[in-house]
Amino acid sequence: MIDVILKKGKEKAVLHKHPWVFSGAVEGVKGKPENGDIVRLIDAKGAFMAYGFYNDQSRVALRLLEWDENVAVDEQWFRDKVALAVESRREILIDGITNTCRLIFSESDYLPGLIVDKYANHLAVQVLTSGIEKNLTVIIDELQKLLKPESIFDKSDASSRGHEGLETKNIVLAGTHPPERVEVRENGITYNINIAEGQKSGFYCDQRDNRRILAAYAKGKKVLDCFSYTGGFTLNSLHAGAASVSSVDSSVLAIDTLKENVGLNKFDAEKVTTIPSDVNKQLRKFREEGEFFDVVVLDPPKYAPSRSALDKASRAYKDLNRLGMLLLNKGGLLATFSCSGAMDMETFKQVLAWAALDAGKQVQFIHQFCQPEDHPVRSSFPEGEYLKGLLCRVF
Ligand code: SAH
Repeated sequence: MIDVILKKGKEKAVLHKHPWVFSGAVEGVKGKPENGDIVRLIDAKGAFMAYGFYNDQSRVALRLLEWDENVAVDEQWFRDKVALAVESRREILIDGITNTCRLIFSESDYLPGLIVDKYANHLAVQVLTSGIEKNLTVIIDELQKLLKPESIFDKSDASSRGHEGLETKNIVLAGTHPPERVEVRENGITYNINIAEGQKSGFYCDQRDNRRILAAYAKGKKVLDCFSYTGGFTLNSLHAGAASVSSVDSSVLAIDTLKENVGLNKFDAEKVTTIPSDVNKQLRKFREEGEFFDVVVLDPPKYAPSRSALDKASRAYKDLNRLGMLLLNKGGLLATFSCSGAMDMETFKQVLAWAALDAGKQVQFIHQFCQPEDHPVRSSFPEGEYLKGLLCRVF
């Protein structure tokens, strides 16, 4: 196995079990590892520090896997990590009212660059590092052994794979091609998922708990679900007895699926207005028309892809939330989210305080939303925390 030498003074993060070593922290490489090979990281004095995946094309040159020199990172090591992750999702799936969740969440599940989502009896896999790519056969084999899925489909995302010099695939890894429509259940609500064509791996299961929490406030209310996608918040609100829901998303495919999902659950279609439009435009239109709501949900895509984009993103979040607040009846609720890892909860609260001032409103934070247990945050890897939200009462 090839040794990679860490620069003197860069030991702290590795000793604290952070899984990333940036290329700038590498002093040298004793040999020519291929990208995706497992290497030994040693300190400047030659002492062992950790095993990790090597990649000279990525800003993250090493993704550390194992800190115990006596543990071999072999096939069994990968099988054990897969099994550990799958086992820790048992409680989510046990009662049968939910049969979709994230089974493996990359670094947070000790498998850097591997994401596996379960949709009923189908799995969608994203491979974002060359190290996982090299060990994929054994990982797929273990998933088949543990779960016996009908299909395992590669949904690897083009932009992230580019960082590691990998090509995009989107192929069947095992079993049959997933059908165009897979019916899944979450919190007892049924959704049609298009694994091959849908966004990300087809469904945003990271909002499972937050949809349920919001629904508890929706009974009898007039709800506006912005960035609705296929209807997560819309359907949960209807299930809880909302008086009406307006759902806005710029994706026509998402809106069409939302309508199908309303039918699938036998909810009253008369209560739902779907608006295939840009949210910012639509919010302004509602304001001009003097339309008000009791509950407004804002679940936008990631505005800040990195820390350097945070200032610009903060302004975009502020404007969006200001508009949302202006459409609420007095004492109404704003459920607002950010899935930008670079935006922490404290900054998000400041953004909302700023939006409240601009809107001339008073805001109480009454609940803090976070990502669910199938998107764990590893204590040594705070970067794994990305989803946050606030439930605000607006006066
Ligand atoms: N709330 C959803 C997930 C939202 S994901 C759920 O519970 O499943 C973000 C969504 O925002 C995507 O569906 C995307 O199509 C939509 N989107 C992105 N930019 C938009 C814009 N400017 N206006 C309207 N929708 C937008």
